[in-house]
Amino acid sequence: MLQPYKHEPFTDFTVEANRKAFEEALGLVEKELGKEYPLIINGERVTTEDKIQSWNPARKDQLVGSVSKANQDLAEKAIQSADEAFQTWRNVNPEERANILVKAAAIIRRRKHEFSAWLVHEAGKPWKEADADTAEAIDFLEYYARQMIELNRGKEILSRPGEQNRYFYTPMGVTVTISPWNFALAIMVGTAVAPIVTGNTVVLKPASTTPVVAAKFVEVLEDAGLPKGVINYVPGSGAEVGDYLVDHPKTSLITFTGSKDVGVRLYERAAVVRPGQNHLKRVIVEMGGKDTVVVDRDADLDLAAESILVSAFGFSGQKCSAGSRAVIHKDVYDEVLEKTVALAKNLTVGDPTNRDNYMGPVIDEKAFEKIMSYIEIGKKEGRLMTGGEGDSSTGFFIQPTIIADLDPEAVIMQEEIFGPVVAFSKANDFDHALEIANNTEYGLTGAVITRNRAHTEQAKREFHVGNLYFNRNCTGAIVGYHPFGGFKMSGTDSKAGGPDYLALHMQAKTVSEMY
Ligand code: NAP
Repeated sequence: MLQPYKHEPFTDFTVEANRKAFEEALGLVEKELGKEYPLIINGERVTTEDKIQSWNPARKDQLVGSVSKANQDLAEKAIQSADEAFQTWRNVNPEERANILVKAAAIIRRRKHEFSAWLVHEAGKPWKEADADTAEAIDFLEYYARQMIELNRGKEILSRPGEQNRYFYTPMGVTVTISPWNFALAIMVGTAVAPIVTGNTVVLKPASTTPVVAAKFVEVLEDAGLPKGVINYVPGSGAEVGDYLVDHPKTSLITFTGSKDVGVRLYERAAVVRPGQNHLKRVIVEMGGKDTVVVDRDADLDLAAESILVSAFGFSGQKCSAGSRAVIHKDVYDEVLEKTVALAKNLTVGDPTNRDNYMGPVIDEKAFEKIMSYIEIGKKEGRLMTGGEGDSSTGFFIQPTIIADLDPEAVIMQEEIFGPVVAFSKANDFDHALEIANNTEYGLTGAVITRNRAHTEQAKREFHVGNLYFNRNCTGAIVGYHPFGGFKMSGTDSKAGGPDYLALHMQAKTVSEMY
């Protein structure tokens, strides 16, 4: 019987002992940089000549690790391995499967700062963000373990004299997990272990920018007792290996988190029934966002500025939930803008190994160029209030950027930038603010800062997003507290870390027995 679980606490870095422990972990990981990591297929290590090199985005010349790169032949082997392992894993007692997750959580908890230190180096996460990423990974393991035990009971349906009916869940088969770099540990862990605990087997293709932390996690699962072949680790090019895995007739379930363009393409491909395939693929895709913080006339304006700041610039705006738009009632627009600009000017940007830096780098050169080109567009579309500058000489650093007075249809009000840029737009009244908030193709998160009860109720009905928050920032969902997933082109609204999530990885079976 598992004990009730709340969530993994965040580390208090004002405590000197915690600071020291984290610094030690950074030092430890620094010594490990540059190592090689093989693929893992059916428990066997496979080394290829072709490598993916993972570089520290804060120090461009620092190699985090060199990872073997799968090609289509190896992807095929991984699918076959997962298919074979499925024949036994599907019958393993769900409690035993859940226990492996809890053991993995315990291992990560013991090595918590070490995992966070990998995220600092590989993903450029500041301490606090890395710590939250690791905590979320632990939460996914603990939460899904308990959810599985609950789900295993099945659901009540009716029986009648002479006829006993049961309704329960059964696993689906080979799952392809394709994960992003921005929650390189948490999302990768969540989307890999949800299929595993429900009795499926997994071929894991992590993002090419953060494959090392994924390799570390697969080792943890092995240490926790996961049988070979249940997870197969195959980093590789999204286009080459990703497509092959998605198209494969033995793939039953695909769980993808990433950009809209890739997600939509994958959704279409998965719909095609290939030769030898005798089932329809189940697809979970969680994609981008263009999330808005709405500020009402009678809001706490300091809270509004703080909420916009945290939503826009936490992890340099590289969250699907990042508040990249602030829509403000015209009567308080100037004041909120001024307060937010003042706060943004105090933010520090630099190497995230230094705890004093609020923001680290963006993930790579491609992201840097893309964000800087959006800033150029934004400068023409609106008024640059602060930031606007980038420096890619040693790492990919961009200043927190605020652009004001934007038309709701402006490019930077509509497209996902995925960087430290927030666009301000003025609303005539609360109805208008909600209309602007809903005017993108996305529908992931949103926040409303207000003291008006009627407006709170109105926003609950009309603000069309999967995760809506009041009087706080629109980022930072916690497993079990804020099940996460978006509407519209933000995805299939799978609600990761919520009570319905695991059932998406299974098929319901009705069994009717006559006596
Ligand atoms: P991405 O470029 O779409 O990549 C995501 C994953 O897809 C990576 O593993 C990538 O591999 C792989 N991939 C690329 N092309 C592929 C293809 N043709 N077939 C199969 N797989 C392919 O996204 P990202 O830049 O890593 O992540 C940022 C995006 O994720 C943002 O849009 C963000 O909003 C979204 N996101 C959404 C959520 C959510 O819960 N809604 C959470 C986090 C992030 P390579 O790395 O090898 O290219």
